[in-house]
Amino acid sequence: MKLHEYQAKDILGKSGITVPNGQLVTEVDQATKAAQIINGPPWVVKAQVHAGGRGKGGGIRLVQYPYEVVTATEALLGNRLVTRQTGPDGIPVNQVLIEEGVEIDREYYLGMIVDRSTACPTMIFSTAGGMDIEEAAASSSEVILKEPIDPAAGWMIHNARNLLYNVDPPLPIGAVRTLMAVMGSVYKIFMTLDCSLVEINPLALTKDRKVYALDAKINIDDNALYRQKELLLLEDAREKDPLELMADKYHINYIRLEGNIGVMVNGAGLAMATMDMIKMAGAEPANFLDVGGGASEDMITKGVEIILKDERVKAIMINIFGGILRCDVLARGVVAAARKTGIQVPLIVRMEGTNVEEGRAILKESGLKFFVAKDLAKAAALVARQVSEKGLKN
Ligand code: GDP
Ligand code: MN
Repeated sequence: MKLHEYQAKDILGKSGITVPNGQLVTEVDQATKAAQIINGPPWVVKAQVHAGGRGKGGGIRLVQYPYEVVTATEALLGNRLVTRQTGPDGIPVNQVLIEEGVEIDREYYLGMIVDRSTACPTMIFSTAGGMDIEEAAASSSEVILKEPIDPAAGWMIHNARNLLYNVDPPLPIGAVRTLMAVMGSVYKIFMTLDCSLVEINPLALTKDRKVYALDAKINIDDNALYRQKELLLLEDAREKDPLELMADKYHINYIRLEGNIGVMVNGAGLAMATMDMIKMAGAEPANFLDVGGGASEDMITKGVEIILKDERVKAIMINIFGGILRCDVLARGVVAAARKTGIQVPLIVRMEGTNVEEGRAILKESGLKFFVAKDLAKAAALVARQVSEKGLKN
């Protein structure tokens, strides 16, 4: 689950990290008042969306006059913002954060993630912070320092030293102490709130050696939300993929991916294996969809409906191992969904296990057009052929 910048800054501020004064507005009318309350000039007007790259996409406006606070808010609120992380249609801006502008001397990057290769929470620090951090990281990886933290030992001061004393050129002396404190707070937030990401970019140093978190991103591990009930209240459902919301409602595990093959499977391991097979056959899955081991006919129908609502899907592959979920139940669900949605794309079904013959008979007798594949490799090859150029011409 992603938090908005203003929510993340609230958390940082409460743990002692300095953030600029700001006010969230949801109506243009509120902008005039906000400009009066908040110190300026300059002011910074910031679109609150779950995507980065806002600065380069026009979602961050640095302005000098109160009337510009209003016009900038007007330009953002209710419109769609396109950044390199949103796709060409952009995402709607429902909220805008108006902040006091800070005079930046240097921009640092501070982040924390779980590094899968070391299986450790890892702090990342760079003196090449700001909007060009990705380019800096790509061209010279030595500008990005990483420090794995042994979670059993916890955060220790030498972790901060490893990061802060290894940068070139060295940091101004006055900044080191504050940056150490910020790092300790970030570690604590990351661990206590079950984060998958905490990122401050830029972490800005002013001429008078004050350190401000000017931007903040916090993502919470969805699997820990059961014990982060207070954070759950911060969820902005408007920012969620509507198909993922629909899947949540029916307790279906669904994640949107980049390809064009809709995939429905029962069981997460089988889903991953199926996606691997599709990739090996040269195609790309459009989603991960796991209906779970004990799915009902209704869940199967809903699963197919969710896949078909995704306009990019050019073929569907259903791979079910009938255990608790019997193949006849699956077949009925698929036929119901195909009838209800008037399915137009090729549908490849591979199933094995309990009541498989009965399931196949139901598909056959439905009179609808299904491809039934006997094994997974054949199914994957068949589905890949449907979306290849040759398949589309046929
Ligand atoms: P992002 O592009 O989505 O990461 O949005 P940010 O919140 O990081 O803003 C983009 C850039 O705007 C930052 O990298 C800063 O250079 C600049 N910026 C943000 N806040 C301020 C501010 O208070 N003063 C100044 N001068 N620049 C700011
Ligand atoms: Mn940023």
